[in-house]
Amino acid sequence: MKYTCFVKDDKLSHQCYQAIATFLNAYGWQHDEAHPQLVITIGGDGTVLAAIHQYLNQLNNVAFVGIHTGSLGFFNDYRVEEIKDFIQDLITKKPQIEAKQMLKAVIDNDERQTVYALNEVRVENNLKTQILQVNIDNVVFEVLRGSGVCLSTQAGSTAYNRSLGGAVLDEQVWGIQMSEIVTIHNSRFHSLGSPMVINPRRTVTIVAQDFNYSVLCYDHKFFQLQGRKQISCQLSEKVAYFAHYKDTDYLKRIQTLF
Ligand code: NAD
Repeated sequence: MKYTCFVKDDKLSHQCYQAIATFLNAYGWQHDEAHPQLVITIGGDGTVLAAIHQYLNQLNNVAFVGIHTGSLGFFNDYRVEEIKDFIQDLITKKPQIEAKQMLKAVIDNDERQTVYALNEVRVENNLKTQILQVNIDNVVFEVLRGSGVCLSTQAGSTAYNRSLGGAVLDEQVWGIQMSEIVTIHNSRFHSLGSPMVINPRRTVTIVAQDFNYSVLCYDHKFFQLQGRKQISCQLSEKVAYFAHYKDTDYLKRIQTLF
């Protein structure tokens, strides 16, 4: 098996990496950072997201499995205390593969300016009231004023979306969930105001006259939107594959969040 490790930059994660790599190499697994079949993430959810973005152009050939070395980790199946079981499972078991579809966001209709997100794409402006027009397919759906809007995937429904009061989507429930971020509601200005789960085949376009001070966040990454006009989001053809070497009941996983 060709594998690599994607390691959070802290002492415990590096120690964990040494133990895993020493064992797997001795067992005959081949370390291949350029073309791995399995990427072992050692760290937290941020480590998993960073690994997926690192291998974005070869997602079809890669599966991800994680061991988490912090106190919380939603994407990882193993805790650091379970490192022996983890290594044993890697070499003895055939994993169940779970596919998680990513979001695609195209800026100003220019495919060369495309970003992808496993969790969510957000337009955020924490400095000024941001006016955003939200189009769903060809319908001008609403105009909202506030700090922005978050479009999340099923995987991301438990992340930033949940903190915004969005719904947690059960596994296999596909859709794009739109949640407003601190929007203004009064006698003059009103928008839907509640999260909405949108049919996965639709395209959501966020348009603004002025994106000054706004940031486009996609997972742990971001860039300034100044000078841009619109962002079009839809579920993408890119899929992140997670290798599960033990039973992972999604409902039990959700229970770890509260
Ligand atoms: P980070 O990597 O430090 O993660 C922030 C928190 O979000 C951590 O507790 C992490 O375990 C959790 N998280 C990430 N993805 C998750 C998921 N799919 N389900 C449940 N929990 C999840 O933060 P970052 O590098 O700034 O951003 C990475 C991701 O973290 C973003 O995609 C965003 O969804 C999430 N995040 C959430 C909040 C929030 O809930 N208020 C704030 C910042 C970031």
